[in-house]
Amino acid sequence: MHEADGASGGVVDFGALSGNILEGGSIAPKLENATIKAELGRASWKLFHTMMARFPEKPTEEDSLALKAYIQLFARLYPCGDCASHFRELLKKFPPQISSRNSAAGWACHVHNQVNERLKKPLFDCNNIGDFYDCGCGDEKKAAGKAGARDLALDKKE
Ligand SMILES: Cc1cc2nc3c(=O)[nH]c(=O)nc-3n(C[C@H](O)[C@H](O)[C@H](O)COP(=O)(O)OP(=O)(O)OC[C@H]3O[C@@H](n4cnc5c(N)ncnc54)[C@H](O)[C@@H]3O)c2cc1C
Repeated sequence: MHEADGASGGVVDFGALSGNILEGGSIAPKLENATIKAELGRASWKLFHTMMARFPEKPTEEDSLALKAYIQLFARLYPCGDCASHFRELLKKFPPQISSRNSAAGWACHVHNQVNERLKKPLFDCNNIGDFYDCGCGDEKKAAGKAGARDLALDKKE
């Protein structure tokens, strides 16, 4: 198993991003408006799953730690404070799987299904996750052939 995976039980050094920054409580207040909560949820899940679908199949250790830190911070900063707090409980039960695109996408599908179950929504078939979140971004292979996906112009520092 990849060393950065939460499930490995290994100690992860996040340097300055440690302690309460990653593991504190919800930063946003409770979100009362059900319509806004649902809209926010749909948009956020879309981002979340698409991010997993675009995560490298063979990430570096830093890529994996970046994803892990993102998920921890997402679970603190999510703008529905009560949702964020439920989500942090899920992260304790199901630590983020960050060793590859497949494991991250499968994990995200699983935790979304946990939320679906709690909200009494239908469960998603996670076998279809790969096709469903193909964002049509599709320039990766061509660009990777020339310069490598990591060096795409948008990623370059000014
Ligand atoms: C981290 C988080 C925590 C949340 N906690 C709460 C909460 O505590 N209380 C609350 O009321 N709302 C919560 N929400 C919002 C809630 O999950 C829904 O987003 C919202 O209710 C709208 O639901 P929906 O039926 O439109 O579909 P959503 O659950 O928003 O899903 C959007 C679309 O994603 C697809 N999908 C469904 N399940 C999966 C899956 N397992 N994997 C991949 N794709 C899938 C389907 O095509 C679906 O139409 C939370 C959202 C997030 C992101």
